Formats: sequence, C-alpha cells, structure tokens
Amino acid sequence: MAIRSRFDTHEVFNQSPPYVDIDLFASDVPLQDAVKANGAAGSAAALSIFGQEWGTAEMFALGRQANENPPKLHAFDANGFRLDRVEFHPAYHGFMHTSIAAGLHASTWTANGKRASAPAEVERAARFYMAAQVETGHLCPLTMTRAALAALAAAPELLAKIAPKVVTRDYDALFRPWWEKSGMTLGMGMTENQGGTDVRTNTTRATPDGDGYSVVGAKWFMSAPMCDAFLVLAQAPGGLTCFLMPRHRPDGSVNALRFQRLKDKLGNRSNASSEVEFAGAFAWRVGEEGHGIRTILQMVQLTRLDCAVASAGLMRMALAQAMHHCRTRSVFGKKLYDQPMMRAVLADMALEVEAAVALAFRLARALDRASGDANEAAYARLMTPVAKYWICKLAPGFVYEAMECLGGNGYVEESLLPRLYREAPVNAIWEGSGNVMCLDVLRALARPEEAALLAVLSRETKTPLDVRFDVQGEANARAAVGRLALIASAAALKESAPAAIGDAYIRSRLDRHHGQLYGAAEIDGATMQLLLQRALPE
Ligand SMILES: Cc1cc2nc3c(=O)[nH]c(=O)nc-3n(C[C@H](O)[C@H](O)[C@H](O)COP(=O)(O)OP(=O)(O)OC[C@H]3O[C@@H](n4cnc5c(N)ncnc54)[C@H](O)[C@@H]3O)c2cc1C
Repeated sequence: MAIRSRFDTHEVFNQSPPYVDIDLFASDVPLQDAVKANGAAGSAAALSIFGQEWGTAEMFALGRQANENPPKLHAFDANGFRLDRVEFHPAYHGFMHTSIAAGLHASTWTANGKRASAPAEVERAARFYMAAQVETGHLCPLTMTRAALAALAAAPELLAKIAPKVVTRDYDALFRPWWEKSGMTLGMGMTENQGGTDVRTNTTRATPDGDGYSVVGAKWFMSAPMCDAFLVLAQAPGGLTCFLMPRHRPDGSVNALRFQRLKDKLGNRSNASSEVEFAGAFAWRVGEEGHGIRTILQMVQLTRLDCAVASAGLMRMALAQAMHHCRTRSVFGKKLYDQPMMRAVLADMALEVEAAVALAFRLARALDRASGDANEAAYARLMTPVAKYWICKLAPGFVYEAMECLGGNGYVEESLLPRLYREAPVNAIWEGSGNVMCLDVLRALARPEEAALLAVLSRETKTPLDVRFDVQGEANARAAVGRLALIASAAALKESAPAAIGDAYIRSRLDRHHGQLYGAAEIDGATMQLLLQRALPE
C-alpha cells in the first residue's frame, strides 16, 4: 500500500503502517499450536488460506463500513402497511456471504442434523476466532444458526426439514419463505422486558392452533431479526416451552412478528438487535410443553463456546495491533518494543492470549469428542461456563491496555481499537452473564463426573484448588470459578504451548496474585522473547 508521507509543511514519520494484508493464521503461533494440539493439524493449510482471505486490507475496510453504517428498521412502507424488515449495508451482506460459504454457520453439522465428526469443532473455532478479529457483528446470526440445530434435535421432524437447508453454503438474503430459499439462518428470542436471566418469568403465551401454536407477547431483545426463523420461549398450557417461529407462515404469508425498534448499542453495531411483538404469530413446538429451558439450553452451550472464542479473537487482534505498532514506533531513541517496561506489558498480554486460546480450543476439542467419551462430555459441561465467564470478562480490560500501547492513535476511530473496545463487553453480557455462568459451574459440579475433574486439573498443573465450591455459598462462586479458570487454562497451556509458557502462567497467575493490570508479572527475559515471537513472528 503506497503511503504519502511528505506534505508541504512537514513529513509524517515514526508512525506504523496499517496492520493489513496479513495471514491471520500463519502470523499466530499460539493458534497454530492450539489447532494442532486439539486434533486439527490436518486443517492447517486450509486455515491459512482462510487467514489470508480475512487478513486483507479490503476485509478490514469492509469491517469498518459494516459498523459505520448500522442496519435500519423499516417497520412500515410509505402507505402505512407493515414491512417489518431490516436493511443492512452491503458490507454486512458481504461478510454473511463469505462466512456462510466457509461454513461458520453450520460446518459442525451434517445434512441430517447430526454432529459432524472431529475435528469439526476445533476447525470451525479457528475460523470463528480469525473472523472475530475482523468483524464480529455478523457472527451473531451465524453462531445462533449453528447452535439452534442442537435444540431442534428435540423436534426430529422439523430438524429433518430444516437441517438440509441450514447446512448449505449459500447465503440467501431475500425475504421469502425459508423452504423457497437456497440457505437459511436462525435466531433466538428468550429475553423479555421483566427478565433475561430468569426466563421463567416470560409472559409470552402460546395457544395450540391447527398444526402449531399462536404466540402472543413480546421479546425485549431479539437479535438478527432478518433470520428466517427463531427459537422462542413462550408459556404453553403445559408450561414454558420452546418454539420455532418462522418469518413466513406455512401458507407463505408473512408471519405476525412486529419489530418495534432496533437497540442503539454501545458496540456490535453492524448487527441488528430488535424489540419485537408477536401478534398471534405462528410457531411449531420444539420438545415437550414445559421443557422449554431444557430444550433451549442445548443451543446455549454452543453459543457460549463461541462467545469465549470470539472474545479470545478480539484480544488477539488488539495484541497484534499493539505489537505491530510498538515494533515500528520509536521513543527516546529506541523502538517502543525494546523499551523494557513495554516489553513486560506486551509479553504479559501475550501470555494472557496464549492462555485464552489454549482454554477455548481445549473446550472445542471436548465438544468434538463429547458424544463418544464421558470424560470429554464432563469437561465440556463444566468448562463451557468457566471459559465463557473468564475469557469474556478478560477481554474489555485487555483491549483497553492494548489501546494504550498505541498511545493517542489507539483512541481514535480510524484505528481498529475503539471498535474492538466497544465490542468486547457484550460477550460477557449475553448468553448468560458473568454471575449466571458461575452459578452454572456450581450446578455442573453437583454431578460426580464434573466434580472429579477438579482433582484431575489440580494434579495436571501441580496446583492446589484452594477454594471452596459450595452450592450454598454463592457469594464465593466468582473466587472459586476464577481460580478454576486459571488452573484449567494452565492445564490447557501444558498441552498446546512450550513448557516455559505454561510455567510462566502458573508462576504469574497461580503462585502469586496477578491483579487486573498487565506488565507486573515478572516474566524472565527468555520467556518474554518466546512469548513475543510466538505472538507475532518477526
Ligand atoms: C446486544 C445484545 C443482543 C442480545 N440479543 C439477544 C437475543 O437475540 N435473544 C435473546 O433472547 N436475548 C438477547 N439479549 C439479551 C441478553 O441475553 C440478556 O440481556 C441477558 O441474558 C441478561 O438478561 P437481562 O438483561 O434481563 O438482565 P438480568 O437477568 O436482570 O441480569 C442482570 C444482572 O444480574 C445478574 N444475575 C442474574 N441472576 C443472578 C443471581 N441469581 N445471582 C447473582 N447475579 C445474578 C446477571 O449476571 C446480570 O449481570 C441480547 C443482549 C444484548 C446486549
């Protein structure tokens, strides 16, 4: 890229060139190692092609455009007839097209709605992680689409019709019945005004009506409203129940979903999140009446993995931007990268990303193997809320620190950092907020298989789990889950990274208190060099 540096009045120098036209896979050694350690070594060449495609200047420019031009709701047409359509910028459609072609919405499923064989989860997680570094808003409908099939397993006849349509690699953005389209996407509506966590308080009602149900009520958050169908919770005669609500009724007419407005959000701006009313909307039941929470939880486990993977991706891009800048920029006669305190900050941050990647991909491997291995199933059950809690909570503070490495340039909209920063908190809030994840860990530990994992992890890392997991003592849960997250991360690092890195993680995070800030971990010089070279090879 040609950059004009000489102006009439001054010359621009000592500034880093844009961080673009990179291979997001080849430039990321921790990612390559995590992919290899978790059973997807054979996918490296394909992932590198994906990494090159997503790391181009054009893709970063499209990411900016998709977020600078947020979607618009057209509730009515000029004559007052209802439209209930959302219009997206072409850049958003471009991302949907590219990501669906790569299978981000469904590559972990077969056309008959069964789990694809290993390493489908790890492979997809690697793509999801790289895509999240460039544009995260469009990943919302993709994560929901892939996860919804898990809940639809409770309605085999529906699954048999929907799965073949979902697994196609076609993005069909036209507004028409899903059975006439070449591909479809799925969303989810659980949260109501009076409660998102406690969905038992849902007041939306579903009454049996012909081949399905008629649903009346409202959802306070329902993202990606141009999906072709939504998994929705509503109170049926037999209790809270899961439904599949299509945008078009079986006779082809438009279903009664009335979008009230789109949320004006902190970040995630390329994605639309609606408030919606159901005015007697048609829906099919998914699972038994009264089993709504149990049914939809099958979906949520998968979206929670994606939250952790995407947050790790946001951290990775923030770190890469910071390192790239510091390698170019000089202060006081030295590259920032060679200033001892900046090296300490960058190396400590690189260690955090190493651990987040190791844990997220270890979890993806557990999902790959859960159906045939009880230990892996227990790992997936216990570690999904642990990883979702820990990695998503780390991301906002991490991105802020990376922003500061770029100085004032990092605070300015033309840099990627403000968007990464605004994007970071949402993964902790949706799909089960922080406290809710910790409560879920307590629930998982009530089962002997999951509880037995504590001793295994402690042994693998030679680290005592010196906290109490006490279902009665919820007030202690964050301390306990935080410690468990550190130990699980250390164990995952021991499998996928050089020994010095796992050791540095244990020394700086488990043997002593790390604190919230980066740069005080007292990592030795050789390990620092190793971390920095792995994070962004020179
Ligand atoms: C951008 C965006 C998009 C969204 N898209 C969707 C969507 O597509 N579909 C959908 O259904 N929802 C969606 N949501 C809603 C989201 O899932 C909810 O906001 C979330 O589940 C929290 O629910 P709430 O907002 O009602 O908060 P509350 O449930 O009131 O929770 C508030 C806080 O209390 C904590 N808390 C709850 N229970 C306990 C407890 N027992 N002990 C201690 N602390 C507790 C929670 O951790 C949270 O921090 C979206 C949200 C956002 C921000």
